[in-house]
Amino acid sequence: MELKLRLIMIMSSLALLSSTGIANSLADNTEYRINTILYQMSLEEKVAQLFMVEIGSITPKDLEKYKVGAILNGGGSFPYKKKDHTPDDWVNLAEEYFQASITRSDDGLKIPVLWGTDAVHGHNNLKGATLFPHNIGLGATRNADLLRTIGEITAIQVLLTGLDLTFAPALSVPRDDRWGRTYEGFSEHPSLVSELGSSVIKGLQGYDDSYFNSQHILATAKHFIGDGGTLRGVDKGNTVLDEDELLGIHGEAYKHAIANGIQVIMASFSSWNGVKMHGHKYLLTDILKNELGFDGFIVGDYNGHMEVSGCSVISCPDAINAGVDMFMVTDGWKELLKNTIEQVKSNEISTARINDAVRRILRVKLRSGLLDSNNPMARQYASMENLLGSKKHRDTARQAVRESLVLLKNNNKTLPIDASKKILVLGEPADNIKYTTGGWSMSWQGSDNNNNDFPGAKSILDGLKSITSIAGGEIEYSTDGEFSINPDVAIIVISEEPYAEYQGTLQSLKFNSKSKHLEWAKTLKEKNISTVTIFLSGRPMWMNREINLSDAFVAAWLPGTEADGIAEVIFQEKPDYDFKGKLSFSWPKDPNQASLNFGDKNYEPLFPYGYGLTYLNNKYIGQLEENYLISSETDFGAPILQGWPRNPFKVIVGSHSESVEVNAKYKKLSDESVTVQMINRLVQEDAYRVKFKGSSKVFWKLSSTEKLNWKNEAEEAGVLSLDIKINQRDSNEALNLVSRCGEGCGSKIEIGDELIIGQWVKIGIDLNCMEQNGLNLEKIYDPLIIESTGNWEFDIGEISLLGGTGGTAMLACSIN
Ligand code: BGC
Repeated sequence: MELKLRLIMIMSSLALLSSTGIANSLADNTEYRINTILYQMSLEEKVAQLFMVEIGSITPKDLEKYKVGAILNGGGSFPYKKKDHTPDDWVNLAEEYFQASITRSDDGLKIPVLWGTDAVHGHNNLKGATLFPHNIGLGATRNADLLRTIGEITAIQVLLTGLDLTFAPALSVPRDDRWGRTYEGFSEHPSLVSELGSSVIKGLQGYDDSYFNSQHILATAKHFIGDGGTLRGVDKGNTVLDEDELLGIHGEAYKHAIANGIQVIMASFSSWNGVKMHGHKYLLTDILKNELGFDGFIVGDYNGHMEVSGCSVISCPDAINAGVDMFMVTDGWKELLKNTIEQVKSNEISTARINDAVRRILRVKLRSGLLDSNNPMARQYASMENLLGSKKHRDTARQAVRESLVLLKNNNKTLPIDASKKILVLGEPADNIKYTTGGWSMSWQGSDNNNNDFPGAKSILDGLKSITSIAGGEIEYSTDGEFSINPDVAIIVISEEPYAEYQGTLQSLKFNSKSKHLEWAKTLKEKNISTVTIFLSGRPMWMNREINLSDAFVAAWLPGTEADGIAEVIFQEKPDYDFKGKLSFSWPKDPNQASLNFGDKNYEPLFPYGYGLTYLNNKYIGQLEENYLISSETDFGAPILQGWPRNPFKVIVGSHSESVEVNAKYKKLSDESVTVQMINRLVQEDAYRVKFKGSSKVFWKLSSTEKLNWKNEAEEAGVLSLDIKINQRDSNEALNLVSRCGEGCGSKIEIGDELIIGQWVKIGIDLNCMEQNGLNLEKIYDPLIIESTGNWEFDIGEISLLGGTGGTAMLACSIN
């Protein structure tokens, strides 16, 4: 049996190498070398290879001692914690880790460490790098050759920092656009994802004779499998499909990726029919490795193993047994390492499984050239700063921007605009790069950036100005809607706020913006000024009101650092600069149409998959329906809070004299009676550490800017659930959990005495119980307030509304 499996593995690696033009004997050599290395490794060395640790949690000194196989920098994690860095900083740190990995006091094996980063639209953690449109925009270009070039450029950007691997491309097939990661997917259509994903892989890793030559890096196909199929678009949620649908919709791109030589596949945080992917032996091992013949390694996602039932961050034999070959882990990795070694000794994990995992990791290191590579500083492209933001990179990105734009409406031939005219430009996103780059750009969420974080980048306004200045036109730019010229045409730029992962997940596709764009558009209409709207977003949204008020409407997605490409098309700077983008996601006609996909039974989009007008092929768009019924669907499912709150929620801390909205800048009261810190619980910044030092009452609260109505939810046995851990209590004062429906209206429960210090617990409060205690469920403003007059330190994780108790420790209803 073992022999047969080995044969299948070797055969699949042969198939791959011969298809990439490398002689078969090389493949035999690879396996022979791996055998030789494996034979010399101790159990401790083998298990250490299974670790990929975040650089914030491991120093080069640690690495010298523990010899882990890989490291990563997560979103917004920089060398020496410097956001303002140079390629040299990266290379220097890569050199430190590399040397640590091959420094030995004995004459044992020297296995270089591998460093992975999220270069998901260019090397987006590297200051000065050209950032391409996010995948949703690249999907609209449908230009596979262009995507291959983008992969090639990204590989060079990564090489000039001395790194080896990118966690890209995402092969997600987002099927519910409320998902906060929709923009990471090329399309809702599996075939387009397959085609474009494979192109990017070829660009990153090389192909045929260029496969892993000195200009290429390792790619990762992620997140296997079904990450884009979760119910209601809940991030890390549950994908409920039968096997044929799962593999048909979410598996196709992986088959192509494997055929194109992908070497790393990341397991998904999500579940398939209730079972977490990190623990899913059938899908990881039987299907992906054995049936689809994947012979590289499976890496876990960021502490993703701890979500497997029965696991914690420091112990998870089930993930390795299921087929995860490498843990991606942060703090706690030393305990996880120790425990995993013990688990092999006690046979909870078999030696054969460990050998298989190490064999896969070594195979990837060998094939990609890392095992025989120079030290990072001596590599061909290391520190070649002149390549950073080079003309070729920027020209390619600008082409991608031009080709990604989808023209949804162009009544009265409003576009192209004559660049010699008087043009009014409205809206902050027109000149703020953080809106065109979005999440995964110089920080994880992308929300705390400013233009200085993107040297050399061009805003939409830069592009408009540069063309009009040559053509003799005039531009007035306004962010508050005030203007003085009498414009021939107005351009309004609107945008979603930047976000990444679960923080971008929505309840509906209604566009909620603080900007006054609708008022501006109405005023312009009254004045008979024709209006073009440019919409920056990570997904299609319900925009009927905006489309009605605009003569022309452009979906520009998240175009990256070369947003001046937009002006080239709307002025049609060259005859060929017509609109080329076609929707790779269906566009909704009502905000509840979130799960709307090509091929659906009752497919009724506003603009179908593949739609996109051009200057040559236009059509008149009449008045669109502006009334819609809010779906009767409940609020169950999507977490209300998991780290930074999502619309319409806010986190506020306060005392009798002061209250402060918690955000990236403000996290405490001026007398420090409440301080808040964002901490990493399961993923980055997904929990709050709150300290109360009160002599009078202080609070931490989740507040809603819109009145909530949870009457329906209560009727369906709804439960408000809260993950909480008490770290310290220095007083006998009560810790209360309060919900409020306005002044003097609400319910209160004492929770402090119910909780064990140092333990995370998911507590649940029955909505009906809250109602009995005085909460008016039809007008909730502050769904959850934690308050005390004493000294406490506690952590707050996820807050959700659940249908039923599902594993939650229910609080008794009687307390008032
Ligand atoms: C994301 C992955 C990413 C990883 C490393 C996780 O939170 O789900 O897509 O590659 O972090 O930054």
